[in-house]
Amino acid sequence: MTLRLYNTLTRQKEIFNSIETDKVSMYVCGPTVYNYIHIGNARPAIVFDTVRRYLEYRGYRVTYVLNFTDVDDKIIRAAKEEGMDLKQLSDRYIAAYQEDVTRLGVREATVYPRVTESMDEIITFIQTLIDKGFAYESEGDVYFRARKFEAYGKLSHQSLDDLQSGARVEVDERKEDPIDFALWKKAKPDEAYWESPFGHGRPGWHIECSAMAKEHLGETIDIHAGGQDLTFPHHENEIAQSEACNGHPFSHYWMHNGYINIDNEKMSKSIGNVVLARELIDQYSGVLLRFFMLSVHYRSPINFSHELIKQSEQGLKRIENTVKSLIERSDTGISGKVSVAKEIDDLTRKFEAAMDDDFNTANAIAVIFDAVKVINTYLAKQVVLSADLEAYADMLKRFFDVLGLEIEAEEELLDEEIDQLLVEREEARKNRDFNRADEIRDQLKAENIILEDTANGTRCVGVKQWKKYMFYR
Ligand SMILES: [Zn+2]
Repeated sequence: MTLRLYNTLTRQKEIFNSIETDKVSMYVCGPTVYNYIHIGNARPAIVFDTVRRYLEYRGYRVTYVLNFTDVDDKIIRAAKEEGMDLKQLSDRYIAAYQEDVTRLGVREATVYPRVTESMDEIITFIQTLIDKGFAYESEGDVYFRARKFEAYGKLSHQSLDDLQSGARVEVDERKEDPIDFALWKKAKPDEAYWESPFGHGRPGWHIECSAMAKEHLGETIDIHAGGQDLTFPHHENEIAQSEACNGHPFSHYWMHNGYINIDNEKMSKSIGNVVLARELIDQYSGVLLRFFMLSVHYRSPINFSHELIKQSEQGLKRIENTVKSLIERSDTGISGKVSVAKEIDDLTRKFEAAMDDDFNTANAIAVIFDAVKVINTYLAKQVVLSADLEAYADMLKRFFDVLGLEIEAEEELLDEEIDQLLVEREEARKNRDFNRADEIRDQLKAENIILEDTANGTRCVGVKQWKKYMFYR
């Protein structure tokens, strides 16, 4: 079987070949950390985590780099407003990001480089571009000479003329050409700055990813990914910088996920319809939000509405119910009239074929529903052996692992041991034994169970591992 993925660079589905056999290097553009993430930011986190999980399922070792943009105009403004320094502000929102995406089942990246910690690499990168004639200094700024990079426009499929006449280039008298873009920006008075051979200032946005990808993954990488809105100018400029500097192709494959609309409208601050990821996770659950997003192919736009997510919830419930019955019933041996090995093979092949086709999670989920239908029939007719039911359960678990679907626990899912700890903690709180209460809270936290004390008692909001609380209770 062959994995194919859609490459924005060639606008085609291509057979995936990694640079090194069994290894994949992947760079995903991360958030600018000045606020909580909205569901538009949650989508690439979920999508590219799923890509990574499937590559690992296919036997690759994946090095996954996700950067944090922790210097930028919006961060500087937000820090001023909140009366914090840049680091305090970005630390706060990086922690919030990690909390949110963890609840969405996103696994930890291999490295999380930050702009403020990569300043030497960025400055060296800019210096090389100046030395090679691809960049020039102008009144304390440094600009990239876009026209000198002949392939400029190849990712967004635009010619220099298109760009010239488009409204997306900024005219500025400090630039030789309107299509040039900033690599280094001179500091304004009272603004945080870094020292450099080009004067006090800070890097432009695009250069950070070129420099950090090179530092952590080398000059040519396998997959570079991000939201569709990053194609131009961000990724176009990254390619120009990296290929001009290194003299090699920057990334073999470019992947972009589609937009999210809210009730058929574009999400924007001015309309006031921005939906924060954490609000939805609280209202529904991380696993449901992830399931909802993966029910649509990653390149298609998603329309978000509460109605649609509730429909999705019914689908997820159907799967959960089957899994629950599967666990309950797999202990009660039934007659073995039907052999399931071939069926499990077929379903697995179908699931893999869906994922091999440009990570088509929508079709992969359809295969899960097919499996659910078959399993329900067996459960009703009692015609398969318990070992076969277990084999089905194992198959589903493999599928869920690929999709990163874990079950968020509700109170009724707590097992006795946890119940007991909760009772003990209530008791300790009543007796004002707060040390013991905190101890229990930490113990449960280590199990990914987060406790929230409210006026009406204690609530569990943790994400629990499917395996532990659903499969093997
Ligand atoms: Zn980037």
